[in-house]
Amino acid sequence: MVNVIVIGAAGRMGKSIISVIKETDGIKLVGAVDRFDSPWIGKDAGDVAGLGKMGVKLSYNIEKATKKADCIIDFTSPDATMHYLEAAMEKDLSMVIGTTGFSHQQRERMKVLGKDMRIVAAPNMSVGVNILLKAVADVARGLGDNYDVEIVEAHHRLKVDAPSGTAMRFAEVLANSLKRDLEKVAVYERHGIIGKRRSEEIGIQTIRAGDIVGDHTILFAGPGERIEIIHRAHSRDTFASGAVRAAMWIINQPKGLYDMQDVLGLKE
Ligand code: NAD
Repeated sequence: MVNVIVIGAAGRMGKSIISVIKETDGIKLVGAVDRFDSPWIGKDAGDVAGLGKMGVKLSYNIEKATKKADCIIDFTSPDATMHYLEAAMEKDLSMVIGTTGFSHQQRERMKVLGKDMRIVAAPNMSVGVNILLKAVADVARGLGDNYDVEIVEAHHRLKVDAPSGTAMRFAEVLANSLKRDLEKVAVYERHGIIGKRRSEEIGIQTIRAGDIVGDHTILFAGPGERIEIIHRAHSRDTFASGAVRAAMWIINQPKGLYDMQDVLGLKE
């Protein structure tokens, strides 16, 4: 049995993860944590997620639950995640990180901690996106430099970071595959008299509207044709299932910083 603490338990992803945990054999919720000023503190985490009582109270203190836990699943904000990551290291717990929007420094710190603890960090935990991350690299390599590459992402109006972590991961994979330096070729905004498109550009465009769970389009446009590869998440359950799968996987791995490609066995 894998015992987990969910952090960000009253959030959109936290509630979805608790629901998947309830439905999955071999994993148990032993702690649920959210901000100290959350109106749900003290309530049963199952009730907060709309699932009925699960016998775990939502707390703002991770300490009590860590005694029983093997792993933390965290979908919060970058600063909060970094705080809990240090706590997980101290308590010798594995950690699954779904949070997006980390700074370069935070990512570097994660790499350092990943030498001494077990971490899975991925901006998108769906099977479909992780399969596509592999596929688009092959497509880009095959098409080569004559095809313009653009990424368009759309998310709900409450999302606070942009572009999405998933769009940035697609951009990294594409830049890598085309042997380009993403910092030099990424274009996040176009407005006014912008001049001709440089052929090496990788455009990354953001849409925020309504309750869109998460759409990503990778567009390759060349002479006389274009390819559009589209992933649409219909529900947060796809990310939540991935996070639960990662938690059950990571506790049996050697120490290290992994991503969802490792969890799904997609790396050669
Ligand atoms: P949300 O705002 O609905 O939930 C975040 C929760 O974290 C809130 O309940 C908030 O109170 C809590 N929180 C914030 N600071 C905290 C702290 N210091 N301690 C404890 N709890 C704290 O957001 P969401 O839609 O659930 O998304 C959360 C994160 O997950 C975002 O970064 C989002 O981009 C990312 N996300 C990742 C994936 C993926 O597959 N990796 C999928 C969807 C969303």
